[in-house]
Amino acid sequence: MSIMATTQPTPISRREADVIIVGGGFMGAASAFFLRQRGLSVILLERDMIGQYASGVNFGNVRRQGRYLCQLDLANRSRALWSQLPELIDDDLEFLPSGHMRVCYQPEQIAELEAYAAAPEARELALQVLSGKALRERFPYLGPEVVGGSYAPHDGHANPRLAAPAFARAARRAGADILEGVDVSQVEKTGSGFRVQTEGQGEFRSAQLLITAGAWGDRLSTQFGEPVPLVPRGPQMSVTEPLPYRLKTVIGVYTKREEEVVYFRQIPRGNIIIGGCHRAIPDMVSRRVSFEPQAMKLQMQQMRRVIPQLGNINIIRSWSGIESYLPDSLPVMGPSSQVDGLYYAFGFCGAGFQLGPGVGDVMAELLSTGQTSTHIDSFHIRRFAAADQHKSVAV
Ligand SMILES: Cc1cc2nc3c(=O)[nH]c(=O)nc-3n(C[C@H](O)[C@H](O)[C@H](O)COP(=O)(O)OP(=O)(O)OC[C@H]3O[C@@H](n4cnc5c(N)ncnc54)[C@H](O)[C@@H]3O)c2cc1C
Repeated sequence: MSIMATTQPTPISRREADVIIVGGGFMGAASAFFLRQRGLSVILLERDMIGQYASGVNFGNVRRQGRYLCQLDLANRSRALWSQLPELIDDDLEFLPSGHMRVCYQPEQIAELEAYAAAPEARELALQVLSGKALRERFPYLGPEVVGGSYAPHDGHANPRLAAPAFARAARRAGADILEGVDVSQVEKTGSGFRVQTEGQGEFRSAQLLITAGAWGDRLSTQFGEPVPLVPRGPQMSVTEPLPYRLKTVIGVYTKREEEVVYFRQIPRGNIIIGGCHRAIPDMVSRRVSFEPQAMKLQMQQMRRVIPQLGNINIIRSWSGIESYLPDSLPVMGPSSQVDGLYYAFGFCGAGFQLGPGVGDVMAELLSTGQTSTHIDSFHIRRFAAADQHKSVAV
């Protein structure tokens, strides 16, 4: 559903702004909101509907633990903003700081969970690593194969369907132009600013340009001579019939085997949402990705390994969504290395939902001041240019 709750296209009132944002997922919508908070004029162009792709169909994990340590500064900034909802945007994303439990099957993995919990970057997460009697007392329903786990008391979950539209509505109330059904075909730097050409909707101009086009981000960065090795994939999701509300902690498995990576959460209405075990290959022309039946079988098997009592439950719906992945599993975020005034925030590798508010806030800080207090250097697009140069030298 459109953020306007109507099928009528939004009238175009302006063609020029301080910032044009291309892509209306969580990253684009949150950036629009925070840019307005800092007083910049904003036009956001979304090809389909706000939050229709990864941002609207994801699992809903507001999880920090398990991220690369270099991402925790950004994740912490985002977590602080999650705590300020719904007051910040006058809308409720159903955020529940329920706690997140990361369980493992191998005794040697307990030491890995402990090392992560002890890292200075992870201090704010207040992780508690549990095993043996302490684990069983705290989580008596875990199956016998589970030998340990790391509990993050402040992580949790929220409703992804609500997130990007709520931020976009808040941005619009604050004065941003949020346009749906506007497909950007060409982007270029002109003298002092940017020209953004659309399919059949004319052109727009801005002083600065922010690309938040998710799995399509590389198509636009390539137009500026900055290709990235982005691969789209479709994580698989299922949801069960409603059951008594007992599982108040989000649970995920820590393992290096993809088919064992299951995660699940129960919402207060009773349904258990399940993800993991498999990723499908999307069709980027039709912009569709399938849920593949083997995913459901694996998810049910793996979930029962974690909680054997979850035996006979019915799945009522399953789906997938198109997400962007990069070889080092880190996003592309920050200024372009080629073009002044150009910024990127895409490629969030299955982990962008928790980061959404933080990414919007950091991008707004960057675009309005030229710098940010949050560590994002590891996400700079130049890391792929360097890899290419290295490759050509090696050849
Ligand atoms: C099934 C699934 C489960 C996930 N689970 C989690 C989770 O539990 N926790 C977590 O933290 N993350 C999770 N993620 C990842 C998270 O959803 C994404 O990282 C995040 O939503 C990315 O947001 P985005 O705004 O970058 O991209 P998107 O939501 O994909 O938005 C990009 C937008 O850009 C638009 N666009 C692209 N090209 C153009 C163009 N040329 N012109 C105009 N508009 C354009 C698209 O239409 C799209 O709406 C999951 C992802 C999926 C798919």
